[in-house]
Parts: sequence; C-alpha cells; structure tokens
Amino acid sequence: MENSKNLKTWLNDYHLDHPMVIAGPCSAETEAQMLDAAFQLKDSNTSIFRAGIWKPRTRPGNFEGVGAIGLKWLQTVKCETGLQTATEVANANHVELALEHDVDVLWIGARTSVNPFMVQELANALAGTDKPILVKNPVNPDLALWLGAVERLHKANIHKLGVIHRGFSTYDKSNYRNKPEWQIPIELQNQFPDLPLFVDPSHIGGRRDLILELCQKALDLNYDGMMIETHPTPEKAWSDAEQQVTPERLKEITGSLIVRDQTAEGEVFNNTLEKYRTQIDSFDDQLLQVIGQRMSIVEEIGFLKKSQNVAVLQNSRWHDILKKMVDQGEKENLSAEFVTKIFQAIHQESINHQERIMNQQ
Ligand code: PEP
Ligand code: MN
Repeated sequence: MENSKNLKTWLNDYHLDHPMVIAGPCSAETEAQMLDAAFQLKDSNTSIFRAGIWKPRTRPGNFEGVGAIGLKWLQTVKCETGLQTATEVANANHVELALEHDVDVLWIGARTSVNPFMVQELANALAGTDKPILVKNPVNPDLALWLGAVERLHKANIHKLGVIHRGFSTYDKSNYRNKPEWQIPIELQNQFPDLPLFVDPSHIGGRRDLILELCQKALDLNYDGMMIETHPTPEKAWSDAEQQVTPERLKEITGSLIVRDQTAEGEVFNNTLEKYRTQIDSFDDQLLQVIGQRMSIVEEIGFLKKSQNVAVLQNSRWHDILKKMVDQGEKENLSAEFVTKIFQAIHQESINHQERIMNQQ
C-alpha cells in the first residue's frame, strides 16, 4: 500500500470529538429488535449501527442470520433514526445486495479475512466503492495475512479502509474468547499509522464484564474507535448472548472511557519523559550487551560439546534454568508467561549458535 497516506481522512466525515463508536446487535433478529436497539442508541455517541445479517457460525444448526430481509430493516433504521448502518459481507452476492440496499459501511469477518480467495472475490465485487470497508483480523495471529486483505481492497481502488482487532483463536481457552495479542495491532500501527484501527472488545472478551477494560486499553494504545455488540435484551440474544450489553450500559461504558493525549506541551512533563526514556535506552543497550556476552559463552560450550561429541540439547539443564528464572522473575515482578517467553527465545538462539558450530567443517 504505497499510497496509503490519508487513509484516516474518511473518519473526518463523521465530525467526531470522541473515538468512533459502532454499536448494535450481533445479529439482526426482528425488525422490532433492530428499531428498539437503534432508537436507544440514537442519542448516544454511536455513529454507526451494526447488525449481522449473514452469520458465520462455528457449527450448523445455530442461528445463521435472517438473510436479505435484514437489509430492509437496516434501511428502516437509517430512515427513522438517522444512524448510519453497517453489516458483514462474506461473498460477492452479499456485496451486491448490501450495495443495492445502500448499507453505509461494510465489514469483512475474521473467518473471511483468513481466506485470500474470498477476500479477492470481495475486493472485485467492491472495486471502486466509496463506502468505508473494515477488515477484521483473520482468526489466526498472522499480521501479513491481515494486511494482505487490506492490500487487496486498496488495489481494487477502495480508499476508505479500516481494520478491526477482534482477537485470535487459540486451542487452550484463556480469560478471553479470542486472545488479544496486542503486539500484532501495535505492529500494524507501526507499519501503517494512517490506517484507522478499531477494537471489537465483544469478540475479544466474549464476556460483557470485560468490555470496559478492553476499550480503555485500546484507547491507551491510540485506537480510533470501537465496535461493541449492543442488544436491547442481551441475555435473550439469538447469538453471542454473553458478550452483548444493553444500550444503557454502552452509554455508561463510552461515557467513562478516558481519552488521553498523544503528547503534552509542558516543559516539566517533556523533560521528565526525556530523562526516563534515556534511562530505558541505556537499559536496552545493557540488555543486548549482556545477551551478546551470554551468547559467546554458549559458543564456547558449543566448541566443548563438539570436541567430546556431546549433543547440543540437555533437556534437564534447560528445565532447571527455566524454573529458576521463573521463580526469580516473580521476585522482580515479572510474570511467569513473560519470563518463559524471553528464555525460550534466548534458548532457541543459543541452540542455533551451537548448531552452527556443530555443523562447521
Ligand atoms: C460479528 O461481528 O458478529 C462476527 C461474526 O465477528 P467475527 O468475524 O469477528 O467473528
Ligand atoms: Mn457476534
């Protein structure tokens, strides 16, 4: 995306003085449910009303969406409340119908953005549209695949683009329905600072009580907005009942979020920040130096093992190190997960160095 400048300018059309809010039910169920939700959201800071019409469900037999009739209900919502509308499209036929019914914003779901064939089909069907298109992250934690989907749309001459971070599937269930892996959207922002970034705390958390903290975290990471599943009677929702909130609660959540500034003017603030950053830079230098020194000892061991024909990996030694470091990390207020990750990476690098020595002629 060489010409990716100004991807954020379409947000200005919404005259926002707050992060953009997209809210509405997971699924369109009935016209009455849609209007009920939309009228309650009308006077909140919601700019765009969302509702899924075609629902990608994990197993057949679950509610798969009301289909095209829901597009008429979205038109009624727009006409009666003035809210803009958004829905998910997953194939060229969905695109054709959604454009015909003048849905304002379309999004590509996580189970679609994972598939380049489907994304290309959508890009072809949408080519040249001036409607905003939002791309959810693919289900697997693959930044290149996510960006590749955005690129296909950009190449199809679509310039109002954005991305939605909805978390990543994992086999082992954690606190979250879909693990956030914040480092992926952070890296995305590094590469494309002009690409509007939204959080979907509903699908990350899978639980309504996590939504506020997830939104706050996203704002602290400079996200541009949020998409929050909102239903008049969440516990009776036909899909994703545990993660939807009432319009009332949505207003409380968006009202209590703190939007912080990117920078501040004050001299004292900037001097203090500068001082701390200098200290951080110096610690980073020391970290790399120490790891480098550690690696030269690892290489000495490599030569020693080679001379005696001893295998590179001694599992028990490695487990002892890991255990000791996790215990020690706890005393330094470092989580076991973090210490494990760091030492796994160091260990892998050490093995690579020793392997190279072993294989030298
Ligand atoms: C949704 O937004 O309702 C949805 C199905 O989301 P995802 O594609 O993130 O699973
Ligand atoms: Mn949902």
